[in-house]
Amino acid sequence: MRVNRRTFLQGTALGVASLGMGTATAAAAGTDWARLRRRLGDRLVLPGDPGYDALRVPWNTIYAHRRPAAIARCVRPEDVQACLEFASHERIPVAARSGKHSYAAYSLPENGLVVDLAAMSAVTVAGTRARVGAGAQLLPVYEAVGAAGQALPAGTCRSVGIGGLALGGGISVLGRKYGLTSDRLLSARIVTPDGCLRTASAHEEPDLYWALRGGGGGNFGIVTEFTFRTAPAPGLTVFKLVYPAGAAADALDAWQEWMVQAPDELWSNCTVDADPAAATNIGGAYVGPKKDLEPLLDRMPAATRTVQEMSYLETMRYYAGNPGPGFRFAASSRMLRDHVPGERVTGLMHGQSDGAILFDSFGGALGRVAPDATAFPHRDARASAQIFMDAENRTEAEARQVLATVRDGLGAGNTGYVNYIDPEMPDWPTAYYGRNLARLRKVARRYDPDRVLAFPQGL
Ligand SMILES: Cc1cc2nc3c(=O)[nH]c(=O)nc-3n(C[C@H](O)[C@H](O)[C@H](O)COP(=O)(O)OP(=O)(O)OC[C@H]3O[C@@H](n4cnc5c(N)ncnc54)[C@H](O)[C@@H]3O)c2cc1C
Repeated sequence: MRVNRRTFLQGTALGVASLGMGTATAAAAGTDWARLRRRLGDRLVLPGDPGYDALRVPWNTIYAHRRPAAIARCVRPEDVQACLEFASHERIPVAARSGKHSYAAYSLPENGLVVDLAAMSAVTVAGTRARVGAGAQLLPVYEAVGAAGQALPAGTCRSVGIGGLALGGGISVLGRKYGLTSDRLLSARIVTPDGCLRTASAHEEPDLYWALRGGGGGNFGIVTEFTFRTAPAPGLTVFKLVYPAGAAADALDAWQEWMVQAPDELWSNCTVDADPAAATNIGGAYVGPKKDLEPLLDRMPAATRTVQEMSYLETMRYYAGNPGPGFRFAASSRMLRDHVPGERVTGLMHGQSDGAILFDSFGGALGRVAPDATAFPHRDARASAQIFMDAENRTEAEARQVLATVRDGLGAGNTGYVNYIDPEMPDWPTAYYGRNLARLRKVARRYDPDRVLAFPQGL
């Protein structure tokens, strides 16, 4: 297994391109950047300024060639307002950037303005409320929430940004017990393209609040701060089941049936590697003690088993993986409503090089929310399947060809998870938003009538 790929698989534990980002190249050339610099000072970084190149690099380095016209290192909501007013007036592409992990690097618009929120990352916890700056990365969020004896269900890689993750849903090791990250959202402070700083909650701008819970990053406005409802931090037990080469199809079949019957406390994923000589790993976390998990693990076919009790914070650190730079990859997804035969999966995958499918269990609390109660539509899925292809040693086109074959071969209909955004996903609006699409488009038109935030897979 390759180093970069291993980093990804550990980091996600759950786990776009040739489309251009914006068409306003000519507009950017005639842009009056001095005007924005008067508002932001040296927080506005232009090509040629010190740090420009280091600042611009996205996590998926397939897009490392992209050159934004400017990067605004925002420190307060007024900076974000200045950026959106400027981009709207100058008609240049503009995108928020939190953790830079967009699979299609949509937070890095070519010739556009990057609204970098990394410095807006304060986390404060009071009781069961966590206020999280929209530029915060996941590990610091867990550290702050965990230090207060609380828990927030969010993703696994330490450097994923809360901004993109929460707006697209947020699948996590605690999702079956506590729901998606977006299900815990109480309110958001958001700058809309008209420059207004608004609060979206159940009581204020309720349509916007609905859309922000699964409607995908980059649409509607730029969130500056989230307030989440936390839960008292539970004790957890982390486990791994390892099946030898040749057992992938059977292990996947057994895993799917096992997870359908699992209690909310149990979350798990199953990784099927392209390499037929690789072991198949099933990993997971249980909300509760080891003694209660063991009988559940006994229902799975015998495997090499490791089981360890951990605190909430230890579990989050474990799944956060090690720090590391990004790399070249292509990925896509399907949401599984039915059992997918293990032999179909191994038939599609085995023999392809440098790739894997990561199946993550859904259901539990996540699945009990009505599909139209928030913008996240995939409540009836039993699992997500993330198809991942390393592109370090092949062209992007080669990686995407294999990706499409595997994705479409899974036979799970036209579905996908917007946070695993794939620029070549067929009929992506329906795949990502299903029956919530029409309402989402209405909200987008209301708050962004001039399409200031337009991007190739934007609403
Ligand atoms: C290694 C790795 C591990 C991952 N693990 C998980 C996981 O466990 N669970 C899961 O659900 N997903 C996971 N993901 C997917 C992840 O949720 C998406 O890639 C997400 O979009 C990343 O958000 P970001 O803020 O880091 O990225 P960015 O590139 O900064 O932003 C992503 C998108 O959101 C927009 N955006 C960002 N901030 C804001 C804001 N404040 N307001 C409005 N729009 C905004 C951007 O413009 C862009 O369109 C993982 C991805 C990677 C690469």
